[in-house]
Amino acid sequence: MIPFLDLKKINLRHEEAILQSVRSVLHSGWYILGEEVKKFESEFAAYCGTKYALGVANGLDALELIIRAFGIGPGDEVIVPSNTYIASILAVSANGATPVLVEPDPRTYNIDPQKIESSITPRTKAILVVHLYGQSCNMKPIKDLAQKYNLKIIEDCAQAHGAIYSGKKVGNLGDAAGFSFYPGKNLGALGDAGAITTNDDSLYAELQALRNYGSHKKYENLFKGYNSRLDELQAPILREKLRFLDQDNEYRRGVSSYYMNHINNEHVILPCVEEGPLSHVWHVFAIRTSQRDNFIKYMNEMGIQTMIHYPIPPHKQEAYKEWNNLAFPLSEKIHSEIVSLPISPVLGLEDVRRIVEVINEYSPY
Ligand SMILES: *Cc1c(COP(=O)(O)O)cnc(C)c1O
Repeated sequence: MIPFLDLKKINLRHEEAILQSVRSVLHSGWYILGEEVKKFESEFAAYCGTKYALGVANGLDALELIIRAFGIGPGDEVIVPSNTYIASILAVSANGATPVLVEPDPRTYNIDPQKIESSITPRTKAILVVHLYGQSCNMKPIKDLAQKYNLKIIEDCAQAHGAIYSGKKVGNLGDAAGFSFYPGKNLGALGDAGAITTNDDSLYAELQALRNYGSHKKYENLFKGYNSRLDELQAPILREKLRFLDQDNEYRRGVSSYYMNHINNEHVILPCVEEGPLSHVWHVFAIRTSQRDNFIKYMNEMGIQTMIHYPIPPHKQEAYKEWNNLAFPLSEKIHSEIVSLPISPVLGLEDVRRIVEVINEYSPY
C-alpha cells in the first residue's frame, strides 16, 4: 500500500537532532517559554519576513487570539471562505462574532475576491483568508477592499508555510496571521503547536500577554487571557525542521509538477495554480472527479491510499445547524468531488509514477 502520508518517515529524517533537542531541554531545567521558544520565534519571524512571531499552543488558538486581540466580538462580522477547514470559522465563533461565508473561486478553491464586496456590511471588521491546500490567495483585490472599508486582514496560513505571493511570504500579507504546526502540516511538530506572525507592535504586545493568562509581568494581569503557549520541547524540533522547510516544499513542487504533467484522464480535473509556482507549497494535492466513491475504491484496490479534504462543508456540519439550510453551491460541489493524492517530502518517485499510471487507467464505467 502506498500510504497517504508517512509521518514517521518524515520525522525519522531528524531523529538525532530531535533526541538531542529533548536532552537539551531536559537539562536546561526550564520547561515553559524558555530560550528555545524565543529562538524559534525569531527564526520563524525571519523566515516569514515579519517583525514578530509568537508561539502559541495550536493553529486554532492562533486565529482565535488574533481575533480577540483586534477586539472583534459579539455584533461584529468577519468574512470567511465557505470552502475551508472548519477551524478557520470556529476561531470567529469562539469570539462571539459572526462568520459571513463567501464562496470560492472554483479554479483555485480559495475565497473569490470578486464575491467579497457584496458581503461587507457596516458590522464587518475583518476578512479572514485561508491559503487552502498551500496556495496563496489572490491578495491584491482583497487588500484593496480591506483598505476601502477599513477592515483587518487575517491570514490562516495553517496549510501554506513558505508560500510566496508577489515576492512576500504568506504570514506577511495582512495584519496578522495564524500558523499551525500540527504534525501533518508542511512544518509539523511532534504534537500540537502554532504561531502568530505580525508587524504590529501593539498587537504583538497584547498577544504576548493574552497567550499567558493576560499577564505581561508575572502575577500581574492586564487582560482576561488564555493559557496558549508553544511548548518548549516542540520549539527546538520546529527549529530543526524549519531549516528543511524550503527544501521539503521544493520536493512537493516536484511531485506536483509530475502529477500535473503526467496525469491525463478525462474523468479527473487537476488543480490550478494562479500566482506563479512559488505561490503554492502543495500541502494537499487535490484532484476532482465526479464519481468520487468509485475512484477511491479503485485507488484502494490498486494499493493507493487517498483522503478527502474535506467531505462535509462547514455550513452542512451539525455544529453549524443554523446554516444547514443555506446554499453555497460552489463549496458544496467542490466538497462532493475533491480527492487528495499522496504528496510529501518522503514520497518516492517510483510511487509517484505508479500513482500516475493507476490514475491514467481509471474509468468509472
Ligand atoms: C490545521 C488547520 C487549522 C487548525 O490548526 P490546529 O493546529 O490543528 O489547531 C486551521 N485552519 C486550517 C486551514 C487548517 O488546515
